[in-house]
This record gives sequence, structure tokens and C-alpha cells, in this order.
Amino acid sequence: MENTQSPIIMWFRRDLRLSDHPALSAAVRTGRPVIPVFILDDLAEALGAAPKWRLGLGLKVFAQSLERAGSRLILRRGDALTALQNLIADTGATTVYWSRAYDPDAISRDTRIKAALTREDVETTSFEGHLLFEPWTVATKTGQPFRVFTPMWRAVQGRDVAAPEVAPSAIPAPQHWPVSDDLAEWKLGVAMNRGAAIVAPYVQPGESAAFDAMHGFLDRISGYSADRDRLDLDGTSDLSEYLSLGEIGPRSVWHAVQRAAMTGAQGTEAYLRQLVWREFAYHLMFHTPHLLTENWKPEWDAFPWNTDASHPDVVAWQQGRTGIPAVDAGLRQMYVTGRMHNRARMIVASYLTKHLMTHWKIGMDWFAECLIDRDPAANAMGWQWVAGSGPDAAPFFRIFNPLTQQEKFDPDGAYLNRWIAEGQAAPSATALSYFDAVPRSWALDPASVYPEPVVNLATGRTRALAAYEGRKTG
Ligand code: FAD
Repeated sequence: MENTQSPIIMWFRRDLRLSDHPALSAAVRTGRPVIPVFILDDLAEALGAAPKWRLGLGLKVFAQSLERAGSRLILRRGDALTALQNLIADTGATTVYWSRAYDPDAISRDTRIKAALTREDVETTSFEGHLLFEPWTVATKTGQPFRVFTPMWRAVQGRDVAAPEVAPSAIPAPQHWPVSDDLAEWKLGVAMNRGAAIVAPYVQPGESAAFDAMHGFLDRISGYSADRDRLDLDGTSDLSEYLSLGEIGPRSVWHAVQRAAMTGAQGTEAYLRQLVWREFAYHLMFHTPHLLTENWKPEWDAFPWNTDASHPDVVAWQQGRTGIPAVDAGLRQMYVTGRMHNRARMIVASYLTKHLMTHWKIGMDWFAECLIDRDPAANAMGWQWVAGSGPDAAPFFRIFNPLTQQEKFDPDGAYLNRWIAEGQAAPSATALSYFDAVPRSWALDPASVYPEPVVNLATGRTRALAAYEGRKTG
């Protein structure tokens, strides 16, 4: 029987916010004491250097906002089930709530935990909140998962999205707080080395910063359709890192954009469409989890990808030293800011998978190491989309030419000037800071000569197309 006074453990994972949080709101509504916990389990431990560092920043700010609501964030480390069992023993909690995750590793962890705790008479409930539409609530007319974006967009575009819940102003506290680890001792930023100090000025973690970013963007959303592809302009929302860590909920964004639409703002439909690309990525990951690990279309298994991550061409790509400025600029933006413009992501991914014929997984893993907005679904879908192996993907033979991309989306060269120092009489501070962000072991400095292309664009393109034709006939 439910103990009406026993505490509820609110297990936070990628939902570091108080508003638009169905699980937290439900816990608070019971009137029972709530014990917020974050567990550094093997899935969190396995994060790449930049997202793990960013997680640490997010946890620090989130703990402060819980404190303002009269609560605390308890930190525990190790196997998640054991950590929860220990916390249950420490506090007498009889209930655990969490927001659902959709990647296969998290699903199998959560399923295992639910079964084990249920056997121990502990109630567990999972809640929505990370997505606008649960993946099993969206289907084609024949009841199948979507594999093509546009029909999914049409199917959800006019749907009602539940209004976001208001943040609780007070969270009932237990009589005694259980012990917590010290966040600083987790050293979540250690793998960033000296890069952390370079990226830090570009990062404002936390829920209230997320709302500030959203409101700032809504003031310029009318330019979104025209500017979102421009590398040189501040045309997008920069909300991805917040959505990825759950510092803002997608329903809050959806409704704010709908309100902007009602006041006559332009660009709102184009923006909601992008938000639904995020949903599409989760829909695909949930229904076809091999999206994360294998060619989504198995016929791509026969393609002669380079799978050697230590190949000198790959290392040059990772270092932002391919000799193709539009490619190198994107990678350097990532080292300095932790983010990369969507257009640049497509350019660097196309160059790696096509001109360098390197497996998309090598690129995906590198992004997972370096991006503060790393998201398992969007990262895998993005790479497979560009490579041609994914659902609804760009055809392989449509190979991006980085030079024409640059002319079109950076017409005055401002983006290149911002990120490439070599050869410039007065390099920008941002371009110079790349040399301080990257590992010392790369032994790079601004006086280095800008490299010749590791692969000539025409040669790389011809080689990739020949391999593609060979795959079809081979
Ligand atoms: P906006 O243009 O303002 O878009 C608003 C929101 O919509 C984004 O915050 C994001 O949540 C969502 N969104 C936009 N475009 C996409 C897209 N193509 N796919 C899925 N969701 C989208 N996005 C991540 O969040 N994490 C990743 O790890 C990631 N890896 C990518 C890898 C590759 C190779 C490619 C091509 C794209 C990747 N994306 C990833 C998608 C996209 O590049 C980023 O979401 C976007 O650049 C974030 O900037 P923004 O918030 O200003 O986007």
C-alpha cells in the first residue's frame, strides 16, 4: 500500500529544469517530501569530454534553482539501481519518478530498474516531457512509424501540444536530507583540459539562461527562414544545448513560438518544423535503434568506408586542418564554442563521408566528444542523413562542394575570418583562440602555414562517386 507520507525520489537525468516538468509537478502535487537526485552512472560517465563538462555546469546551476525552491540536488555515483536502492534505504522513500529517455541504453537500464524496484515494493512511474510527441503516438495511416520527415511533419503540425506546467515555487523537503556527493569531486570537466577556459565564455548554463536565449531569439524569429542557413549571421536559436540537457522543455518552446505566430511574427512555421526534426530523430531512434550504431539502410554495409580513425586524413579533419577553409572553420568553431552551425555540420560531415570516404560513425563519435549540445538521436540522424545511409537521407551523389557552400552561405567571408587565422594579417581573436582550445599535443600555432587540401575537391568527389557506382554494381 502507498505510504502517503514517505518521500518520493525524483530521479533527474536529461531534464534539469523546474518548469514544463510533468514528473516533478506530479511529485510536488502529492504533497509528499521530494528528494531530487542525479546519478552519475555508467551512461553519464561515458559522455564525451565537452558534453560531460557541460553536464557539470548544468548540474551546478540546477542545484541552485532547487535550493531556491527549498530543495536540494542529491548526487550519487555508480550503478543507478544500486544508487537508488541505497537512497531508498537512507530515506524510507517508497516511490521513484523519472522523465522518460528514448535511447536504447537508457531504455534497457530503466526497464531493469523498474522490474527490480517493483519486486521490492517500490512504485516507479515514468513521465513524458523530453519530447512533444511520444514516439508511439505518431504513426502513418497504416499504423507504421514514419521513415520520411515531411509526412511526419504534416501529421503533427496541427496537433494540440499540452501546455507546459508552471515551475513549482516550493518543493516539499524531507525532514532529513540524505548525504550527497560533492559535484566538484566528480571532476566532470577534466577531459576538457585547457579547452574548458576557452569554451566557458560561450556557455550560459541553466533554465533561466535557456529562457533568456529563447526570448532573445523570439525577437528575431522573423528572420529565421532567410537567415538560418547563413554561416555568418546569428540566425538560429542556439537552444539545442538546453533542449539536449532538458534545461528547457520542448513544450515551452513550442507554445512560445505559437504565441509569436499569433502576434504576426514570420519564421515561426520554419522554426517549428526544425523542432519536429528533433522529434523525427527521436521517433527513428525509438523505433529503429540501430540508427545509432549501424547503417540504417543495410545496403550501405558494402560501401568501402575508411574505418580507421587514426588515418592522417581523418586526423587532419579532426584538427580542422583539411586545407578546405569552409570545413576547417566549422570544426574550429566547435572547439572554441562547443557548438557548430547546422550548415557547417552538413559541410564537414559531407567532406568526411564523401571526399574522405570515412565512415559516418567516426564523425559522429568525434561530434559526441566535442559538442556541448550532443544529442544521441540528432547526432546519429544528422550523420546518416548526410552520409546517405540514413532514412530520408540526402542522396549520396549530391556531394556538397564546400566552396560553393561558402560562397552561398558566407558571401563576405565573415565566418571564415572568424575561424581561420593562418594567412591573415590581423587574425580575429576567435580564430586565434582555436590554438588555445585544442590539445597542446597537436603542436599548432597561428604562425603555422595553412595546409594544402588533404584531398583535392574534384579528386575526392570523383573517387566517392566511383565507389558509390561500384557499390551498386559490385
Ligand atoms: P535552430 O535552427 O534554432 O533549431 C531549433 C531546434 O530544432 C534545435 O535546437 C534542435 O533541437 C532542433 N533541430 C534543428 N535542426 C535539427 C536537425 N537537423 N536535426 C534534429 N534536430 C534539429 N543537433 C543536436 O541537438 N545535437 C547533436 O548532436 C546534433 N548533431 C548533428 C550532427 C550533424 C552531422 C548534423 C547535420 C546535425 C546535427 N544536429 C544536432 C542538428 C542541428 O545541427 C542542431 O540541432 C542545430 O545546429 C542547433 O542549433 P540551434 O539550436 O541554433 O538550431
